[in-house]
Amino acid sequence: MILESFPVGPLQANCTILGDEDAGEAIVIDPGDEAERIHGRLTKLGLKLKQILLTHAHIDHVGGALRLKRLTGAPILLNENDLPLLATMEQQAAWLGIPTPETAPPDEGLADGQRVGLERYPAQVLHTPGHTQGSVCLHFAPLKLLVAGDTLFAGSIGRTDLPGGDYGQIIDSIQSRLLPLPDETRVLTGHGPETTIGTERRSNPFLRGQ
Ligand SMILES: [Zn+2]
Repeated sequence: MILESFPVGPLQANCTILGDEDAGEAIVIDPGDEAERIHGRLTKLGLKLKQILLTHAHIDHVGGALRLKRLTGAPILLNENDLPLLATMEQQAAWLGIPTPETAPPDEGLADGQRVGLERYPAQVLHTPGHTQGSVCLHFAPLKLLVAGDTLFAGSIGRTDLPGGDYGQIIDSIQSRLLPLPDETRVLTGHGPETTIGTERRSNPFLRGQ
């Protein structure tokens, strides 16, 4: 198994490559920027890209997706509840003072319960609204791995003050969908260091008393 997670772009969103070297296949989660660098890494690893999975439609997570699709031919998957947010890319870029990346509607949705990923490393989609209405986490149960986007961070949670954000909803999403996962589940977050479900259940100040 190849698992690489690294920050991309001015907001340093974590992009993840998960590959099966025997099958020569990979998925990429949240190519927020630096599509050429991500493509170069896939080429160096000898992996064919099968899916581009987006945890939500904020610019720092989707900015490189269309470019990566053009470089690889892989389809883009995004939860349909974030389509309105995807349409605000110009506004999102203006808030940050960065150029507007070209985007396109996703090729497929990412519905709750849907199975995505590689044949050998499948993931289940967990719809976890709150940071945005279409935020999802990807749970690779056999790998004891969760890719959480901006829903859960080490010692924090995603901001809910942007359009589409809802504080009560993100707390409920984390409580009902993420905290029931096994303690040892490794969590790759959308920004900053990784953590585990057990660590966050015990010590995340936003989840105390949950
Ligand atoms: Zn975000």
